[in-house]
Amino acid sequence: MNEKNLGVNTICTHVGEVEDKQFKGAISPLYMSTSYAYEDVEIKRYPRYFNTPNQEALCKKIAKLEKCENALIFGSGMAAISTTLLAFLHTGDHVVLPQTLYGGTFNLVVEEFHKFGIEYSFAKGFSEDDFSELIQENTKMLFVESPSNPLMRITDLKMISNLAKSHGIISVIDNTFASPINQTPADFGIDIMIHSATKYMGGHSDICAGAVAGSDDHIKTIWNLAKNLGGSLSDYTIWLLERSMKTMGIRVRAHNENANKIAEWLEQHPLVEKVYYPGLRNHPEHELAKKQMLGFTGMLSFEIKESYDVRIFLKSLTLIKPSMSLAGVESTILSPAKTSHGLLTPEERKRQNISDGLLRFSVGIEDANDIISDLEQGLETLLKEIKNEN
Ligand SMILES: *Cc1c(COP(=O)(O)O)cnc(C)c1O
Repeated sequence: MNEKNLGVNTICTHVGEVEDKQFKGAISPLYMSTSYAYEDVEIKRYPRYFNTPNQEALCKKIAKLEKCENALIFGSGMAAISTTLLAFLHTGDHVVLPQTLYGGTFNLVVEEFHKFGIEYSFAKGFSEDDFSELIQENTKMLFVESPSNPLMRITDLKMISNLAKSHGIISVIDNTFASPINQTPADFGIDIMIHSATKYMGGHSDICAGAVAGSDDHIKTIWNLAKNLGGSLSDYTIWLLERSMKTMGIRVRAHNENANKIAEWLEQHPLVEKVYYPGLRNHPEHELAKKQMLGFTGMLSFEIKESYDVRIFLKSLTLIKPSMSLAGVESTILSPAKTSHGLLTPEERKRQNISDGLLRFSVGIEDANDIISDLEQGLETLLKEIKNEN
């Protein structure tokens, strides 16, 4: 296979696959061995060294999708994030991250970094000034998430990479929400891309994994720490993840298409106060999103008008599942005020625009009409409740 200029679906389906030389089967054989020969071999293999045949296969696919030289896979998104941060940040260093950080990453920073003597600052917004004013002499990294959780704000990736380069520091993105199908930050000069592969890469709500992609040098630095920390992914899960990623391109496009339709439908509904989706023209960074994203993802948030009780809406849903996590083929929905942002004070939630009526919706790949019918009957239930009360 000529690997130059392959389309993403071909990359998803084939790149990295392990050839079954023995039986000529069509898919990568699964190598469960934790013990490999060390004499007369090119590579001494061991699962914790992140170099079994299946680990390597998946890394090649992810690197190719992220347009990078190399990649590493981990036992969770948080293992990928913690290993990457600690690989580049040492005692006395400083990192700038967004305030709207994924909860697990926020906890890692505020609960663990002081033990290592690593300093950090949270950017209040998404503009160049918000980040640049926090850069100090000892700043070593700019870390971003775009789109952000749960309000889907977009950070200018070119701006971030230029800012990092002008200070001679590393830029890192948590690219989970976009997936490499909708956004390849390497195109804009971002150094390191991290994924919770638990989300769109796995895509079926049945895998917990993480990945990081970057240059050979950067991946080598991360690998040096990774082999000591030991957060490698199990062989069977790797094999499942390779299977899942074959359909990632078509899945993510189906998510995008459904979310676009549903965002537009929600926007015109009288009970909906506001819809947060980068594909909508009234989104504050719609033009920027169009410039740096290939699709607007299956993630959106919307706010039900204040006078209605969202718990009644959530209970009345029959297709969409109120549940944690995101990016599976099945539609799931959650209240950030009750889950991801539940530990913040009401004042802090208000400051971050996380109202009690806000719902984060991970739009699945079911037929859009069926998803819309479920939303419609849920919203109608709210109207009936109000009538019953009167
Ligand atoms: C879920 C998630 C993570 C953490 O991934 P795990 O696989 O649960 O460890 C990190 N970042 C983002 C944006 C996520 O959605």
